[in-house]
Amino acid sequence: MNLRIPGPTPCPPEVLQALSRPMINHRGPEFATLLARCTEHLQPAFQTSADIMILTSSGTGAMEAAVTNTLSPGDEVLGISIGYFGERFCDIAAAYGATVHRYTVAHGLAADPEQVGRLLREHPSVKAVLVTHNETSTGVTNDLKAIADVVREAGPLLLVDAISSLSSLPIEMDAWGLDLVLSASQKGWMVPPGLAFVGVSPRAWSVMEDARMPRYYFDLRMAKEYATKGQTPATPALSLFFALDVAFDFLEKEGWPGIYDRHRQIGEYTRSGLRNLGLELFADPKHASNTVTTVTLPSGVSEAELLKTLRERYGIVVAGGQGSMAGTMLRIGHLGMVSQSDITALLDALRVELGDRRVSTPAQAARS
Ligand SMILES: *Cc1c(COP(=O)(O)O)cnc(C)c1O
Repeated sequence: MNLRIPGPTPCPPEVLQALSRPMINHRGPEFATLLARCTEHLQPAFQTSADIMILTSSGTGAMEAAVTNTLSPGDEVLGISIGYFGERFCDIAAAYGATVHRYTVAHGLAADPEQVGRLLREHPSVKAVLVTHNETSTGVTNDLKAIADVVREAGPLLLVDAISSLSSLPIEMDAWGLDLVLSASQKGWMVPPGLAFVGVSPRAWSVMEDARMPRYYFDLRMAKEYATKGQTPATPALSLFFALDVAFDFLEKEGWPGIYDRHRQIGEYTRSGLRNLGLELFADPKHASNTVTTVTLPSGVSEAELLKTLRERYGIVVAGGQGSMAGTMLRIGHLGMVSQSDITALLDALRVELGDRRVSTPAQAARS
C-alpha cells in the first residue's frame, strides 16, 4: 500500500521490527537511558535547549496538555483557526472553561500576523494564543515566525500545534520564542501513533505554577518530576519508544537540513504535478504546505468513489476532506518516509482516472 494520508505515515521496516522487542522494566535503568536518549534526539528538531516531555498519547492529548497546564478557567485566549485542527484547539480551551476569542480564517488561507496583532490590542487580557503551524485539513502552513513576533511583542504565551510540521518543516522553538510546541509520532517521525512530544519553554514552566485548569494524566509538571528520575508518571508505550529510538537513526542519517529540503522539493513536485493535470489546488499558493497537499475535486467527481478507485485499483490511500470540507477534496500526505516516486504513482493514477472522466463527460453529454 502506498499510504499517502497526512498521518499515520509509513514506517521503515526497521522501525516496525523494533515494536516486537521484549518488554523492559519501565522503572529500571534501561528505560531511563532510553527516555533520556529520545529526549536528547528530539531537541534538534525543535531547535531548543528547553525541556521536551514525551507523553503516551496521540497529538490531541498534547493539545489538551498545552491548554490545561498553562491556563485557568475564565482566562481569555486568542484561538487562531484556519481549519479543522485550529477549531479543535479552540474547542479544547473552551471545554476547560477558557473564554476563547476566535480568529477564524477562510479555509485555504493562512492567518494574517497583522490581524493577530490587532486582535491582541483589542483583547489586552488574553493570556495565551493558540495556533496551528501546519493546518492538515486545508494544506496551509501559517507564517509561524511572523505570528510569534507579534505575540511576543504583545506578551501572551504562544501554544503551537506543530503536529503535522515538526520533523518535516523547519521550526525554531527558542529563536522564535515559542512557549509550548506539540508534535506526534505518527506524522513526520515515521513512528506508529501513540507518542506525543511537548516542548516547554522556561516561561511556560513558570506560568504553570498558577494555572488552575484540572489535569492529571497530562500534568506536565508531574511528567517533568518523573523525567528527572528517568521515568514517566504512568506506564509508557514502551514499544513506541523502541521504535522512535530506531527512527532517529534514519532521521539523523539524512540530517535535518536534508529532510527539510526533501519535503520542500516533494511539496513543489506534488503541486506542480497536480496543476499539470488541470486540477485546482485548494490552498493559497503563497502558504501551501510541504507536508500535505489539498486539491479541489472537479465538479461531478465523487470524493468517495475516487478514494475507493485509488485504493482498490492502485493501492494508493489518500484522504478526503474533513469537517465542512468533506466530500470536496483530496488531501495528499507527503511527510516522513516519502519519495518522489510515491507521488509519481499517485499522479499517474489520477491522470488515468480524472483524465478519462474529463474527456468522456462532454462526449457522453453529446451522445445522450
Ligand atoms: C493529526 C493532527 C492533530 C491530531 O493529532 P492526533 O494524533 O490525531 O490526536 C492535530 N493537529 C494537527 C495539525 C494534526 O495534523
